[in-house]
Amino acid sequence: MNIISQTTKIYSGEGAMESLRDIKNSKVLVMSDGFLVKNKMINMVLDNLDKTNTVEIFDDIKPDPPLSVVSKAMAKMIQIDAEYLIGFGGGSAIDTAKGTIYFLKQAGKLKKDLEFIAIPTTSGTGSEVTNVAVVTDEQSSVKHALVSDEILPTVAILDPKTTESLPPAIVANTGMDVLTHSLEAYVAKGANDFSDALAEKSGELVVKYLLSAYKNADDKVAKEKMHMASNLAGNAFNIAGLGVNHSIAHQLGGVYHIAHGLANAILLCEVIDFNSEDSKTKEKYAEYSRKIGLAEKNDCDCDAIYKLKLFIRNIMEEMNLPKNISQCGNVDLSKWKLEKFIMTANTMKDRCLPGNPRDIK
Ligand code: NAD
Repeated sequence: MNIISQTTKIYSGEGAMESLRDIKNSKVLVMSDGFLVKNKMINMVLDNLDKTNTVEIFDDIKPDPPLSVVSKAMAKMIQIDAEYLIGFGGGSAIDTAKGTIYFLKQAGKLKKDLEFIAIPTTSGTGSEVTNVAVVTDEQSSVKHALVSDEILPTVAILDPKTTESLPPAIVANTGMDVLTHSLEAYVAKGANDFSDALAEKSGELVVKYLLSAYKNADDKVAKEKMHMASNLAGNAFNIAGLGVNHSIAHQLGGVYHIAHGLANAILLCEVIDFNSEDSKTKEKYAEYSRKIGLAEKNDCDCDAIYKLKLFIRNIMEEMNLPKNISQCGNVDLSKWKLEKFIMTANTMKDRCLPGNPRDIK
């Protein structure tokens, strides 16, 4: 049996931010990336909030959201007794808001009718439609996925204006995150026809638009399509689950603070090879490559997978991304082994691991 429940209402396209105008006479807390407050992008939210509201901002967001920040955010929520919580930013801002809801619910300290609105400003995580929040325990450097339908945003706003300012390097990292979500969801144990359709469409959009979004800052169509691709891929993995690629990326983020999308990207080809040892998964990778327009219908599975990996390598090179972990900044992981990270993920009981199509013992 499959259960497919899509509960987040999505406003998308130009002008989607105007849906905020319906909020009146309420206490609103906006959790936003500090950078977006400094550069005044936050005005996209504030200008659409009616003057009858009382609005406060929490902007102490950090990448790979640490639990200490979530804890501060919880205190702010309690202090102002918010009726609306708006998460405005990349996955780090939205996940801080989700972590806040998760722990306040557990403590029985949350208004039952809280409206949670997620407004992504990166096109990568799909967090605006997932029941997952990834937070980091600073003591152990472990990234934990908190999973609960109670943290699903009530509303997601996909307004292309929020991504116009994205610099190429962030377009590249987050765009590769979209591809990883789409691909992992497609082969994951929980995949079904519904999630496959979402994954295929998001993969197709990545193939068509990611490079242009990276190269041409003014290509609004490409940026808007990547924003939708991110959302579709988020919906896909929210249904199907993810796999070992993410389990390892969580370690690379928690310990070495490699940007999440980049961590996913540098693992992709090796994980495809690892999982292709399972014959059914190999067929599914090949099918994905055909469906998203990389391979021809009559290509054999090996050729189709070759074309998928070639696309990944080429687009990473065109977007100036490092080819492997040992090229990521100051991180010396030249002797890293996929199997070692898989073992660690297993010991840590990473929440993405059970979704992996090839069983991990
Ligand atoms: P991020 O939120 O950390 O942001 C990356 C950088 O982009 C920051 O410096 C930020 O200031 C900047 N930025 C954001 N929007 C911008 C804009 N419009 N213009 C210019 N700069 C902008 O990065 P992310 O990749 O969006 O999120 C990564 C986090 O999300 C990781 O912790 C990852 O584990 C998590 N994640 C969560 C889910 C989920 O379902 N909850 C899924 C995947 C990843």
